[in-house]
Amino acid sequence: MDKFAEIVFDIPVDSKFTYSIPDYLQNDVKPGMRVLCPFGSRYLTGFVITLKNLSEVENVKSVKSIMDTSPSLNPEILQFSEWIADYYAAPLGEVVSLFIPKKISVKSEMTYALTDEYTEKVNSLKSSNDLIFDIIGLIKKSREKRLSKKQVEKQLKVKPGTVLDFMVEKGILSRDKTYSDTTKEMYVKYIRAKFVRSSVDETIHLNRIKAPKQLELLEMLSKEETVELSRLKNYKIPYSTVNSLIKKKLIDVFEVKKERKPEQGFEEEKKIVILNDEQQNCLDKINESVLKKEFKTFLIHGITGSGKTEVYIRLLKEIINQGKTGIVLVPEISLTPQLIRRFRNHFESKVGVIHSKLSEGERLDAYLSIREGKYKVIIGPRSALFAPLENIGMIIVDEEHESSYKQENSPRYNARDMAIVRGMMNNAPVVLGSATPSVESYYNAVTGKYELLKLTKRATEAALPFVKIINPLEKYVSDGFRQNEIIDKSRQKFLSKELLYAIDDRLERKESTILLQNRRGYHSYIECMNCNHVEMCDKCNLSLTYHKQIHMLKCHICGFTRQMITHCKECGSTLLVDSGAGTEKIEEELIGYFPAARIERMDSDTMVSKYKYQKVLNDFHKGDIDILVGTQIISKGLDFPNVTLVGVVNADIGLLIPDFRATERTFQLLTQVSGRSGRSEKPGEVIIQTKHREYKLYDMVASNDYEGFFKNELTAREQGSYPPFTRFSIIEVKSKSKDDCLKESKEIYRMLSAYESSHSLMLTQPIPPLISKIKDYFRFHIIIRTTKKSDPAGKKMLHAIRAVKSKLQKSHNVRVTIDIDALNLI
Ligand code: ADP
Ligand code: ZN
Ligand code: ZN
Repeated sequence: MDKFAEIVFDIPVDSKFTYSIPDYLQNDVKPGMRVLCPFGSRYLTGFVITLKNLSEVENVKSVKSIMDTSPSLNPEILQFSEWIADYYAAPLGEVVSLFIPKKISVKSEMTYALTDEYTEKVNSLKSSNDLIFDIIGLIKKSREKRLSKKQVEKQLKVKPGTVLDFMVEKGILSRDKTYSDTTKEMYVKYIRAKFVRSSVDETIHLNRIKAPKQLELLEMLSKEETVELSRLKNYKIPYSTVNSLIKKKLIDVFEVKKERKPEQGFEEEKKIVILNDEQQNCLDKINESVLKKEFKTFLIHGITGSGKTEVYIRLLKEIINQGKTGIVLVPEISLTPQLIRRFRNHFESKVGVIHSKLSEGERLDAYLSIREGKYKVIIGPRSALFAPLENIGMIIVDEEHESSYKQENSPRYNARDMAIVRGMMNNAPVVLGSATPSVESYYNAVTGKYELLKLTKRATEAALPFVKIINPLEKYVSDGFRQNEIIDKSRQKFLSKELLYAIDDRLERKESTILLQNRRGYHSYIECMNCNHVEMCDKCNLSLTYHKQIHMLKCHICGFTRQMITHCKECGSTLLVDSGAGTEKIEEELIGYFPAARIERMDSDTMVSKYKYQKVLNDFHKGDIDILVGTQIISKGLDFPNVTLVGVVNADIGLLIPDFRATERTFQLLTQVSGRSGRSEKPGEVIIQTKHREYKLYDMVASNDYEGFFKNELTAREQGSYPPFTRFSIIEVKSKSKDDCLKESKEIYRMLSAYESSHSLMLTQPIPPLISKIKDYFRFHIIIRTTKKSDPAGKKMLHAIRAVKSKLQKSHNVRVTIDIDALNLI
């Protein structure tokens, strides 16, 4: 008989904890269940990982109660979790928690409903009391025909105490666990007239209504059949007015159930599509693996607009036909309304959408529906990989190159890579798709680890746009503008004549323009021309950005804001010059040039609510916006037939930062945004402004030469010993004390050095990253690499990291994080 359980908690601690299982729970506790356990001075929800007969530890505490009737985590999930925890050197408790919505542990409670045979059972009671009948009456009256203990207590104003349990025991009530606080369905209340609406005056007269608010409401109801109750506050009509009219039997209130539909709004007609040869080939190749039920990774390299989504849809249809389920990962849901819409068109209610902006209630609804097997396909960002689906037959990762698949706090997993692991564990093919695959994935494809499939043509027969690279400064130089630097800086315009003419042209032809400036705010920094001081964030090592709309300086790392300054903080000079431009400034310049145009800005400053994106995208789709200015979010999968011009204001942003992926990211961004142009019969044009026309990268973007880019990049990566030739991980040390930070970093470096030759590690001395301080915490990075030749699966590297981690002293003022396969270097 199992007497002990190994349990993990959602805390940043690596260990499993042993608890004893009390006798009365012996039969109930199973691996994968959530249990409530004493932990220090409080109780925590833990996950049972394994059961065992013996405990090496003495005096263990015991499990207090179980929180599941059946395991929340099935064996597949447990195995997958162990894999992730192992690979990322992350606590297992944090990993398994990815599979459970946060709210579920807090808000679940026992509720009571009447059994089918409750009347007989009540009648057979030897003695009964009024409370029993009160409870029965209350449950019958309730909307959901079930109540929690708390609800009974509140409504009867007595503590039902053991009576409920007694009623369960006697077969009158059944007990079940529901998530009542959060899963409550939404109801909307309406008012309707009970008088003859055509003769409202007569009604008023007969009932002698004098109160102005009552009159107002009756008038409203004579014009509209129903009025939503919540609308009354707009007219300042109090609820007492409604009550009086109800008493007079002139109106009544009724409820309508409202479904929570998180992603409303984007409409697109369903198209009947016949796959072209390339698409068909793709489908056939992948379906071979589907039919063989074999795990295999495919990389679809399909240019923008080549119809990848259609291929995904056909694949999933096959999966569903086989009675299996599928997961589709996308970088960000709010930016992929069209993809969602197309999936909905095909799979209707079989598709469930999870995204980060869901309310806790919506998230829980989704989770429960998945567990009930309602959905066959789940779409979502990286967290959707942890959907508790059974019988997974395929995992698709769209835009696989996106860095948002990497979670930047513990567990720091990459959902693209883990999708491959989950696919492997389920014998399911995994499909990665992108117009600009990551260098790592493409390398895996050309070396045969993945199967490479290509879509080289646009699906709609539209041609790729014509891309022009220009240097906006050249004009100014020849115009003799550069005599005085201050004048030059402050007069600098960011939109070249060429770009302006092109925009004007589109306005004339009623076509749309997308303008990318990958930086928010107004200016990028404020510099003193007298002493060269740049206004910095107090807490971070980063210059502050001026946001004109709020007239504030803002830190883009920690969100700190401060009043705009008029004098230099260092020398008091008023000779302040702003440099660089953000989306706000570009928008303002555009308004100046094209006052009649409809211009909208899309960046994380304007897109504050979950409906805002959709509204702007909808308006743009309908042609109600002429020019859409924005950061990289406008480069994502949008498919707007009317866009014939894409402009990139400053392509060099992001190129000159100290990150070996800077070139790759720039190539991806420019190619993706270019791909928004000319997607239907109207030919598209792209104008990219750069001050570094000499970079080869720009020619490759212009000729859509991914392979050329890849070849160049691969050489650079090999020379620098970067991925895909090495594994690249970072140990980050953070502290408010710079000295402590450096000291700890050196200590870790010293400990790692002991493994350097035996584990074939390549170590770099601790160095501060580009942003050397964030929110008052100083940072140091130790970079650890191993070549794939000497350490193919990265086991040696992990072994060394884990050995060092276990030896680290717990310290209150220094934090150490491990980032395996790091993507964020700055
Ligand atoms: P991608 O995701 O590869 O950028 P999409 O899947 O968005 O491309 O497809 C681009 C457009 O082409 C969409 O409007 C889609 O409906 C259309 N399309 C896809 N496949 C075909 C096809 N075989 N014939 C005609 N149109 C197609
Ligand atoms: Zn100064
Ligand atoms: Zn800051």
